[in-house]
Amino acid sequence: MILPDTPAPEGSGAALLAPTVPQQTFGDFPLREPVLRAIADLGWTHPTEIQAEALPPLLDGQDVAGQAQTGSGKTAAFGIPIVNRLTHGLLPGAIILVPTRELCRQVTGELEKLAKYTDLRVLALYGGTRMRGQFTALEQGSDIVVGTPGRVLDHLGRGTLRVDAVKFVVLDEADEMLDIGFAEDVENILRRTPRARQTALFSATIPGWVQRLIRRYQRNPRHIAITPDQATVATVEQRYYEVAERDKLEGFLSLEDEFGRDARLIIFRRMQVGVDRLARDLTHAGWLVQALHGGMAQVDRTRTIDAFRRGDLRVLIATNVAARGLDIPDVTHVVNYDIPQNPEEYIHRIGRTARAGKAGVAMTFVGEWDNDFLEAIQAQTGGALQPATLPLYAR
Ligand code: AMP
Repeated sequence: MILPDTPAPEGSGAALLAPTVPQQTFGDFPLREPVLRAIADLGWTHPTEIQAEALPPLLDGQDVAGQAQTGSGKTAAFGIPIVNRLTHGLLPGAIILVPTRELCRQVTGELEKLAKYTDLRVLALYGGTRMRGQFTALEQGSDIVVGTPGRVLDHLGRGTLRVDAVKFVVLDEADEMLDIGFAEDVENILRRTPRARQTALFSATIPGWVQRLIRRYQRNPRHIAITPDQATVATVEQRYYEVAERDKLEGFLSLEDEFGRDARLIIFRRMQVGVDRLARDLTHAGWLVQALHGGMAQVDRTRTIDAFRRGDLRVLIATNVAARGLDIPDVTHVVNYDIPQNPEEYIHRIGRTARAGKAGVAMTFVGEWDNDFLEAIQAQTGGALQPATLPLYAR
């Protein structure tokens, strides 16, 4: 988007730092007053890049296919137009499909904040919780439904959720929905919504199935790509450490001084058992840590994420799936204790840090059999990972 060029304000030190092209503000968009007030309460002044690109077409009623990750501000990019457009009614006017329960809760939370000064009701529909409360909320009239495809389809089958009045459909993290096995459910739901709907799709990567979704279910969408470089990766300091498989624990512990007291870490492992084992080992070493993976009961996952978000818990050990789409502010370090198996996974993982322009560090352990994975990641990121030596080996 091209912005008008006006001089930076004079007479303040800030002028030196002021961008040569002044940034837009939310007041530049045709938004209703309650929406602008909610945005102001959130403390946001300028739209993020994806918002600047996606808000105009979405507010104008067009479809958008956006390539953007968590951390780019994409939730508000679709949330603001939805809240701006809908009025309270008996049947849902918007359906937002997301891959995981955690993302469902997070998106619901953000939509509630944006809808704070409207009478719109937001409802989260995800599995692993009792359906009774969801029935009641649906009966009483929910305007914006945020759900995982399985649970949404379940309600559609029972007739407890009706989508005939839906004006707005969002597919959030479409590639993740494919990976988790929701492809068919997503298409089933899309086919039941009115043809005259507006459809926004967001995905970090665009595999074949996502391309087909765009072709089949969107109308002349505006394509927007926010590359990871611009979205998050640029502010993440990326390092890799060569480490023998059997030295990983000791090597990790030798990094303790690097983290500092205020660190907030997510450590990624490939397998649930690996997560559990590392949680046990670190606990033995005197660390306060908790595990997060799909094998845990939903209540425990929720409790862990809440503790992490509040800052009571500073070290989270997670599998990819459990951490997908999570927005946890101020994560200072992402540690790839097991190297990601492909570049997309790497970009997803390191997207947990350096949120909304804050600096972060991503540390990747490269074991003796991991060189192919490292090469693939380096090729995709343009060699963004710098070699570093574990203090364990430097002694
Ligand atoms: P998301 O990519 O939607 O998960 O958003 C990442 C984080 O950025 C969330 O914590 C949002 O609350 C925050 N955020 C979204 N839009 C803005 C904005 N315009 N200014 C500052 N922070 C924002």
